[in-house]
Amino acid sequence: MARYTGAVCRLCRREGTKLFLKGAKCYTEKCAIEKRNFAPGQHGRDRKAKIVGYGLQLREKQKAKRIYFALEGQFREYYEKASRSQGVTGLRLLQQLECRLDNVAFRLGFAMSRRQARQIVRHGHVEVNGRKVNIPSFQVSVGDEIKVRPNSQKLVVVEGAREFASHQAAPSWLSIDAANLSGKVLALPNREDINLPVNEQLIVELYSK
Ligand code: SF4
Repeated sequence: MARYTGAVCRLCRREGTKLFLKGAKCYTEKCAIEKRNFAPGQHGRDRKAKIVGYGLQLREKQKAKRIYFALEGQFREYYEKASRSQGVTGLRLLQQLECRLDNVAFRLGFAMSRRQARQIVRHGHVEVNGRKVNIPSFQVSVGDEIKVRPNSQKLVVVEGAREFASHQAAPSWLSIDAANLSGKVLALPNREDINLPVNEQLIVELYSK
């Protein structure tokens, strides 16, 4: 499946919850979930069937995939790797998603949304340990230093994010140097750090069938 390029608010409405895909707009009353909290499409208002079993598991997987902009095959690879590693599979899955470079750039306040962070990484504005990395799914490790490249620090998108980030709580697993637009990975995130509406256990149940 190719990368989704359609209207992202539809994805939130499909999942029935805020996925925070649009940055500042997500925190205002203009958010589509605030205005039209029902599934998109002609019959969206009428579909009220209770989702159980497989449907519930599928929705949790779709939700996580959409939050992190991961593709289907890539997401399954994260699961396979998590299931082979030591520790709780669901948590390992979420940790891999959190350690994607685009997500870390978002968490560090370089962009207002993961989608925007993905774009600044893709366009080569971010470096890891002093070297340019333009792969959004690049996995950062404990001890890595992530920084907006010096020539990119005046970008409008980065300037806007800096102001936006000053109102957000910093995650405890990252140290942030807002003045220099840089940060360091101090540890892997624990479950409390990953403040997202996802039940990872249901995703594990879906893939382990
Ligand atoms: Fe989702 Fe943000 Fe759109 Fe609201 S504004 S529906 S949270 S993407």
